[in-house]
Amino acid sequence: MIETVRVHHRVSHADALERARAALAEVGIPAPESRLKNYPHELSGGMRQRVAIAIAFINKPDLIIADEPTTALDVTIQAQILAEAQALCARTGTAMIWITHDLAVVSSLADRIAVMYAGRIVETGRTADVVNDPQHPYTKGLIDSVPSHNVRGQRLAQIPGMTPSLINLPQGCAFRTRCSRVIDACLQEPPMRELGPGRAVRCFNPVGSPEHAVAEVAS
Ligand code: SF4
Repeated sequence: MIETVRVHHRVSHADALERARAALAEVGIPAPESRLKNYPHELSGGMRQRVAIAIAFINKPDLIIADEPTTALDVTIQAQILAEAQALCARTGTAMIWITHDLAVVSSLADRIAVMYAGRIVETGRTADVVNDPQHPYTKGLIDSVPSHNVRGQRLAQIPGMTPSLINLPQGCAFRTRCSRVIDACLQEPPMRELGPGRAVRCFNPVGSPEHAVAEVAS
C-alpha cells in the first residue's frame, strides 16, 4: 500500500503509512494500525478483498476496473463488499467497471450494463432496462437461466452449445450457432443498433422484434 502511494506521489514513508492506515479504516478494517503489520495469510478472504479495494482507492482514481473481485467470497461477505464498494464510489466520485458473470451482482450494483459475448459488447443500456427487457438472445438466455422460486420443479433454461473459440468464430454473428432467433441475415456480422438513448443491441432479430418468427436452434 505504501509503495502504491509513493510511486504516484512525492510523500514521506510516514505520510504514505498514514494514508494506508486511513484507506484501511475507510474500507471498514478494524484496528487498521495493527492490521498494517499483518501478512496476507493472517487476514480472512473478506479482509484481503477489502485491502485490495483500499489499494485501488488509495490514489483517488477516476475509474477502477474490478475483474470478478468477489468470486471467491461467500455470499454474505460478497454482499458487504458490494455495498462498501458502492458507498466508496458514491463518496469519492470514482466510477467503477465491475466485470462479472453474476447477473444478481450487476443488477444490484450497476447503473448501466454492457453484456459481452465472444469479446464484443452485444447489448448495453441502463440496468433496469437490460434486466427487465433484454433484447439480445444471449442476454435473455443468461437471465432465463438464473434459478428462481417461481420456476421450482421445472428444468432450468439453458443456452445450448458452447462459447466458440475466439480464433475460430462462426461466420457472421458469433452467437449464431446457439441462437433460437437465427435468421438468414445472421450470416453477416450484425452492427450495433441504437434502440433509444444509451440503449443498443448487436442483433438482426432482437427479442422484442415482431418481424421474424423464432427459428429452430442451428446445429
Ligand atoms: S438473431 Fe441473429 S444476429 Fe441476433 S443473436 Fe441471433 S444469430 Fe445473432
